Amino acid sequence: MENATNATAAFATQAQRWAAVVRRAGSADGAFCYAVRTTGVYCRPSCGARRALRKNVRFFDDAAAAERAGFRACKRCRPNGAGVAQQHALLVARACRLIDSAATMPDLASLAQTAGLSRFHFHRVFKRQLGMTPKAYISAQRAVRARDQLRRGGSVTDAIYEAGFGSNGRFYAGSAAALGMTPSSYRGGGDGVAIRFAIGACSLGSILVAATDKGICAILLGDDAATLLRDLEDRFPKARRRSPVWSRRRRWASTCRWICAAPPSSTASGRRCAASGRAARSATASSRAAWAFPARRARSQAR
Ligand SMILES: [Zn+2]
Repeated sequence: MENATNATAAFATQAQRWAAVVRRAGSADGAFCYAVRTTGVYCRPSCGARRALRKNVRFFDDAAAAERAGFRACKRCRPNGAGVAQQHALLVARACRLIDSAATMPDLASLAQTAGLSRFHFHRVFKRQLGMTPKAYISAQRAVRARDQLRRGGSVTDAIYEAGFGSNGRFYAGSAAALGMTPSSYRGGGDGVAIRFAIGACSLGSILVAATDKGICAILLGDDAATLLRDLEDRFPKARRRSPVWSRRRRWASTCRWICAAPPSSTASGRRCAASGRAARSATASSRAAWAFPARRARSQAR
């Protein structure tokens, strides 16, 4: 609401509005629309249609005002409906909710069909909105569910179906990447497994990423490093814990960035991420700066 008000203020004068139309400024969409006397059509400022002459252009505060003046909506930019970016954000959010709540994970074809897009188009829109493919999002959700189920003391078979894998074979094939170890090692507190971990700070608080040679086994968010470390020790009391080798730190830092930039339901730890949208992006910047791998120090604090 505040953004909409700011946008309207930035395009208050005729000169500002015309400059926005010349630039095809997407930031002006929603702040006003312009109509062309010679065609009888009105558009969003960002419309890709051929530019009209300034003398034929009239500005209106919104679509309703343009229609009252007798203009009809452009079929290309649809100034009387939700913008394309807004439509895409909505349908990706809907697809994520579908994935999060599905008993059996949907495939790309059914997600695309629900969204009313071709598979190719849906894949592209999803990746542009979330920065990851639908397949990667589904894998992350499966990992979250499998970890939760195993942590609650459920059987490996329960975890398989709870995670939406559908069959044992697919679960075992994917479990190393999803859990960082076999399901039985995971349930057994990381028995015989070496875990490397790092703790960083971001605007959400502290973040701990732990991994084995096979994959990430825990991503924890919390108030401070010592609590996170205790949490890791509770989860994997039998594992050998080590701080990460230098060559891997860059990759771990990028995992942290992914977590901070992820939508609320997709944090790989399965815990709610309080940041979203713009707040999440600023969290990304601060996490990059603060990612210092203070693992040894944190361990001594925990004791
Ligand atoms: Zn248009």
